[in-house]
Order: sequence, then C-alpha cells, then structure tokens
Amino acid sequence: MRKKIVAGNWKMNKTMEEALILASEVVNMVKDEVSTEVTVIMGVPSLYLNTLKSYVEGVANVSLAAQNCHQKASGAFTGEISAPMLKSIGIEYVILGHSERRQYFGETNEQLAEKVNISLENGLSPIFCCGESLSEREAGGYLELVASQLTASLFHLSAEDFAKVVIAYEPIWAIGTGVTASSAQAQEVHAYLRQHIAGKYGQEVADNTSILYGGSCNEKNAQELFACADIDGGLIGGASLKSREFTTIAKSY
Ligand code: PEP
Repeated sequence: MRKKIVAGNWKMNKTMEEALILASEVVNMVKDEVSTEVTVIMGVPSLYLNTLKSYVEGVANVSLAAQNCHQKASGAFTGEISAPMLKSIGIEYVILGHSERRQYFGETNEQLAEKVNISLENGLSPIFCCGESLSEREAGGYLELVASQLTASLFHLSAEDFAKVVIAYEPIWAIGTGVTASSAQAQEVHAYLRQHIAGKYGQEVADNTSILYGGSCNEKNAQELFACADIDGGLIGGASLKSREFTTIAKSY
C-alpha cells in the first residue's frame, strides 16, 4: 500500500533558534500523537538540515527534506547545494519543482528531469511538485497540463526509480492564498494523475504512488481532503510553521 505522508515546507523562514524550537516541538508531538502509519517530513532550509538530523534520528516516522538541489553533482555553481552533499549528511527527501522555484528561479521541466535523476542517483526520494496557475485552470485543459509536467520530468524513469518518487499536486492559485482547492477539485486531479501514471507504469505502480495535495491545506480542511480516495497526504506551507497546527494536520487521517 502507498505511504500516507504529511510534509512541511518551511520555505525561507525561521532563524536557527526558531528552527530548533519548531523541529523539537513537531518531533515530540508526532511521537506522542501521530500514528506511525503516517510519515511526517519537515522540508527545512538547507542550512539547518545537518543540525536537525539529530532531532529526527530514532523517530521512525519523521524525516527531513531539502527544498531543492542542483542538477549537477558538483562544480562552479556558487550558492548551490548538490544531491551528493545531501546524501553525505543522510537526507532522505528533496522537494523538487515547487511552483516558486519554477516561477522565481525559472526551473523548467527539462531541468527538473535532471534534478530528479541526480537525486535518485544519490538515494534521495524526490517530492515532485506539479500544478496549474489560475489562468491555466480557467482556460481548461489543466488536467492534461499537470499530467504533462509528470511526463516531461518523470516518465523517462524506470518503474523501479519512479516508485521512489512522491508526487505533490499543488494548484498555484491555492498556494499561500488561503483559497484551498475543494476536495472534489483536488480529487479530480489526483485521480487523473494516478490514471496517467497507470498508463505509463501499470496499475500496481500507480496504486503504490503517494500523491499529496498542497495549497492552503490547514487543520480545518485537511480531514476532508485526506479522506479522498486518491489523496495520500499533504504538502503544507504556512501551516507547517506552527507545530500544533502541523501536527493536527498530520493527525487528520
Ligand atoms: C507550498 O508552498 O507548498 C504550500 C502548499 O503552501 P501553503 O500551504 O502555504 O499554501
């Protein structure tokens, strides 16, 4: 069966002191309150990954994610962080293709395919983000558009490698806006993506792929979203910055 996952994306927030407090609160609350059937991931600024590792060690269902990595293994790319570096400190997940990376840093489907490859080569599981803008939704054809993001960046993978990828459907119009996709809107896209994956890799692989929803998911709407047949958890931005709210979301199954 596919994994249930609640992943936080802290983005560029929190000082070191604040990060230590938030991470330790989350770890303690998850240990006490969240079923071990739910994998909880904290996507933290890279600067904090190595320190926070000791916080999650020994807690079976809590892991860390980087928020990005470069597509090359090493070299003259000032300011960047590589997949081998993340591997060298034992990180398990990396968020790739977040709409903010696509929008503000010009990441393309092709570049993301390279980032996916180097992540997998270094034992990292990509949390691969996809999603449409409001104008793309209003124009129709958004299902095909979101599916095409998977085709372009993931469908060159072997079934074995694809099985290590987590998908996060994040409609851009719902990210950080307070406007959540309704459960019906989210389920429609998730079911379409699963069918699209089945068309390429077969039903078994599709049924084992975790597809997370992201976009203004909070403690009030998480339960209804996570109850949908094809929604396997959430990628949580704003609400992951508050330990109580994030834990409540993780308990929403
Ligand atoms: C995100 O940025 O991945 C996200 C889902 O943000 P928010 O929950 O704040 O909408």
